[in-house]
Amino acid sequence: MTAADIETVLADIAAEMAARPDRGEVATYIPQLAKVDVDQFGIAVAMNDGQLIASGDADIPFSIQSVSKVFTLTLALGKIGDTLWKRVGREPSGNPFNSIVQLEHEHGIPRNPFINAGAVVVTDVVLAGHEPREAIGEILRFIQFLADDETIYIDREVAASEQATGYRNVALANYMRSFGNITHAPELSLGVYYHHCAIAMSCRQLALAGRFLAHGGRHPATGHSVVSAERARRICALMLTCGHYDGSGDFAFRVGIPGKSGVGGGILGVVPGEASVAVWSPGLNSSGNSQLGSIALEKLAKAMNWSIFAA
Ligand code: GLN
Repeated sequence: MTAADIETVLADIAAEMAARPDRGEVATYIPQLAKVDVDQFGIAVAMNDGQLIASGDADIPFSIQSVSKVFTLTLALGKIGDTLWKRVGREPSGNPFNSIVQLEHEHGIPRNPFINAGAVVVTDVVLAGHEPREAIGEILRFIQFLADDETIYIDREVAASEQATGYRNVALANYMRSFGNITHAPELSLGVYYHHCAIAMSCRQLALAGRFLAHGGRHPATGHSVVSAERARRICALMLTCGHYDGSGDFAFRVGIPGKSGVGGGILGVVPGEASVAVWSPGLNSSGNSQLGSIALEKLAKAMNWSIFAA
């Protein structure tokens, strides 16, 4: 497909999504997110050949929330390598992102790095040896580097809003602390976690930040190896199996590419060897994943014939 063809595909999808009435519900448990206008939709595709194509509200920054967990996982693996897997599993949870029940059965070892409990462990690893503000800075700078964009910022109001109301995450972190699987005071690890979840990015910036996964672990602008090709594949495997919580199977079935969602309504999708894709629409479905974002990715994958299962 030529760039003009892809532009047409994205414009058609954006127009269709703008007109759809079934937009889902914005997250309300984080008060700042409840204020976001549900009528927005953006999409951006960073092709491996360097083209960046976008449509709709692709330049409006949104709260990336759990999409940030892809980047913190990458940092934590860089820091302690495969020993991370002693503290967090690699299985889909089949439960909501903030579920508590499984943690008791599994002695404080969360199922995977993308549910909240697992992501807080990952953040605890990134925090080791740093002050919280340094760890937050490290995560932000890493994302800025991946996207080649130093304007990416943390929305402090979103972080404060979640900090003030995150009782469920406090429970998860304290529970894991009791098993020794959180090594800092829980409020410190959670403070860093809330701040990386509150990073604000546009679809364009997020698609750029995801390029290393579509490029076998390399940062395309500098050729710098962010992770090995093997690690990039494994991060993608976790995105496919766990990136949409208890909606992961349905996402793999409908879309067929690795993806990571967040309750801000963003999804980062990776088509290895082809492209990195970001979509955003703040209304969520019952699994807490972007309602229109998932539909848009399904349509895009079909139009582009993108699937990791394609023969
Ligand atoms: N910061 C959010 C939370 O901890 C992230 C959840 C999400 O995006 N699914 O609840």
